[in-house]
Parts: sequence; C-alpha cells; structure tokens
Amino acid sequence: MICGYLLARAGVDVIVLEKHKDFLRDFRGDTIHPSTLELMAELGLLDAFLMLTHDKVREVAAEIGKDRFRVGDFTQLPTRCKFMVFMPQWEFLDFIAGEAQKLSTFHLFMEAEVTQLLARGRQITGVRVRTPDSEGDITANLVIGADGRHSTVRAKAGLKVLDIGAPFDVLWLRLPFESGDPTEPVARAVSGNFFIMLNRRTYWQCAMIIPKGGFADMKAEGMGGFRARLRICAGFARDRADSIASFDEVSLLTVVIDRLERWSRAGLLCIGDAAHAMSPVGGVGINLAIQDAVATANILAPVLRQRPASAAELRRVQRRREFPTRATQWFQVQVQNRVLAPTMRATMTPTAPLALRVLNRWRWLRQWPARMVGIGVRPEHVRPEIFQARR
Ligand SMILES: Cc1cc2nc3c(=O)[nH]c(=O)nc-3n(C[C@H](O)[C@H](O)[C@H](O)COP(=O)(O)OP(=O)(O)OC[C@H]3O[C@@H](n4cnc5c(N)ncnc54)[C@H](O)[C@@H]3O)c2cc1C
Repeated sequence: MICGYLLARAGVDVIVLEKHKDFLRDFRGDTIHPSTLELMAELGLLDAFLMLTHDKVREVAAEIGKDRFRVGDFTQLPTRCKFMVFMPQWEFLDFIAGEAQKLSTFHLFMEAEVTQLLARGRQITGVRVRTPDSEGDITANLVIGADGRHSTVRAKAGLKVLDIGAPFDVLWLRLPFESGDPTEPVARAVSGNFFIMLNRRTYWQCAMIIPKGGFADMKAEGMGGFRARLRICAGFARDRADSIASFDEVSLLTVVIDRLERWSRAGLLCIGDAAHAMSPVGGVGINLAIQDAVATANILAPVLRQRPASAAELRRVQRRREFPTRATQWFQVQVQNRVLAPTMRATMTPTAPLALRVLNRWRWLRQWPARMVGIGVRPEHVRPEIFQARR
C-alpha cells in the first residue's frame, strides 16, 4: 500500500490488488514505528495521522517472574516522534488507502486475488486476477509482489527461498480488559512460558510463544491444562483465563523466517515479507516492509515515470535493502535462540540475563534496543524531489 501510494504520488500509474474485501485481518502487529512516523512527516501526513485514535508507547519493559525491567526507551531517539504508535493495522491501511485514492494515478481493487503471473519469454508482463465475479488479466511494466510471507507472486516467479527457520509458533487469544489495568504492552517470561499482552482498549491481544508444533500437545491436554498455563503467565489478568471457552478462540500462527536469494527477475520485484518473512520478534517486520517500499519508490519512481525498469535497476532495490534484512533477521535469530528457546525449555522462571539488568540500570543504554525496533538498520527517507504532492 505504501509503495503504491509513493509511486502514484510520484506520478506513476499504479494498481494495488488486495485479495480480501477489507484490511480487517488479525493479527499482524499494531506497531507504527518512529521511522514510519518520520516518513509520515516527510509526506505531510503526520498531523492527520495522529488525529486517528491511537496509543503512544514511550518505553518498553519486560517482566521476568515478578520483576520488571525497562529495556527500551523511545524518548531518546533522533526522530520527530519519540514514541511508537499502537493502532490496529487496518486503520493505518485505511488511512493510507484514503490518502492514495485522492491521487488520479492510484487505483485500489479489493477482493482481487493474484493467481498467476503473465509472461513473455523470461519477462513478467502482468498478473491474472480473480474477483468474486470474474477472472481477468492485467498487464504492467512492473509487478511488485508485496503479498506477504505466503506470497503467490514469489512462488509463481520461481524465486529461490532460503529458509532460516524459527523454533517457535505463536498462539493468539484475547483476554478481557478491565478498568485499572496498565495500558503499556507487557512481555513476560515465567515458568517456561513467554507471554505478550498488547492493549486493544476493550481487550488484551495476547501472544503465547510455544515450541514449534506444540499446539497439538496442548489440545490433547485439554482446556483445563491450557487455562492453568494461562493463569501462570497472564500476570494481573490471570483470573480471566476462564473467559477462553474453547480452542476455537485460540489461533495458531506458524512463525517463519526466510528470505529470497534474488528479489527480482525481469518485470518483477518482491518486497516486504514476500522477499523476507520476518518473525514477530522485536515487532520490526512492518518497519522493514515499509522501508523496502520507500527504497523501491526512491530508486524506481524516476525510471518508471519514463520507461520500464531494467533488470539491473530492479536489483538495486535488493542491494539497498538486503543488508538491513540480514542484520535484522540475525538479531531475531539471536533472540529466538538465546532468549526464547531456553525460556521455553525451562520449567522454572529464569533469572534475568545480565543484559536486561544493565539496560534497566542505565537509561542511556535503553536507546539502543529502541533504535533497533523503532528505526532499524539503514532507515530510508522520502526523496522530496520525487514525491511532490500531485493531486
Ligand atoms: C503473529 C505475528 C505478529 C507480528 N507482529 C508484528 C508487530 O507487532 N510489529 C511488526 O512490525 N511486525 C509484526 N509481525 C511481522 C509483520 O506482520 C510483517 O513483517 C509485515 O506485515 C509484512 O508486511 P507486508 O506488507 O510485506 O505483508 P503483509 O502485511 O502480510 O501484507 C500482504 C498483503 O497481501 C495480501 N495478499 C496475499 N496474497 C495475495 C494475492 N495472491 N493477491 C492479492 N493480495 C494478496 C494479503 O491479504 C495482505 O493484505 C508479526 C508477524 C506475525 C506472524
């Protein structure tokens, strides 16, 4: 959506195809990072964006057993907004779609699923699209696969995927929000469980991190065992475990970390999770996807306004974004192997690692985890000469 908006704003004719009829899909993260807010400011959209209902998070903490450790501090970041915004992702997407639809060069088709690529020899020339009423072809100078970690585009393009692997899955569930609850997000390690709670105002969106494939064992154990586990890890919300009536209210999300060897071929480019599926660790995948979108538009908009992009020009996007991707995935693998895996193996609450105690003690150091999550590696900026508003 961001890539489509930026290209359209630069004067390139764009069609965005989304297979669902709305953006109401749970749950891919509610985080709008300080770097994205910086882009909003560069595009002149920040004030309007901040008018939408949202929560600001300035500090991130982790709980180990009963002890609380401050681990990240956004107030020290060199960005205009010294906070992370939490907002349901569909509202963010609706906002960008609304801005994009003010441009005559932007076209959004909902319930339009890409099922095939069109090709002339080795050159991709467009896509086949299925809608509820029909099927048809759209030809294009460039197809950008931004269709997520189960990307149809990358599969149909035959691009080789390097699977990095993740030893855990995530169970999503909701617990009721009660007045007097804290409002900040909570990450908690207790007795072999890792549990995250995100405030959605009327309920808590909760993530239980489990060993890969462990959901089948939990189901075999039954709801009694599952609720007992919930009571251990839900902290102040432990008495709400009974609100989960059955496993139908618990959804499994298989976590993947992978990346493409080559992000492009003639007439086609993959970005975001389609090029590099990110795990939820650190809540950085949205940031990376948006940064890819900006880099793509910065590199390709001046070309696409004149002519189709060459294979070499498409490869420039990967050259620009591969290092941030590798560095971030390396960080996610370290966290999953050094923190998550031992926590899930342990039967007792772990003692807080030294790094956590040091971060909690020195505020200045807490800017570094915040930078990794809030800004990331090699932040992108909108090139003003390309993105003069064209209405
Ligand atoms: C459980 C979980 C929690 C996460 N939490 C966070 C978090 O808190 N913060 C964070 O930064 N990241 C988080 N991530 C990672 C983040 O969700 C992704 O990295 C990010 O959404 C990638 O954005 P994207 O635009 O590349 O893909 P997506 O957000 O997956 O968007 C792809 C879009 O393409 C559409 N689509 C798919 N196939 C087709 C098709 N054939 N035709 C047309 N449309 C199609 C989909 O409907 C979807 O709208 C989480 C990931 C998981 C799995």
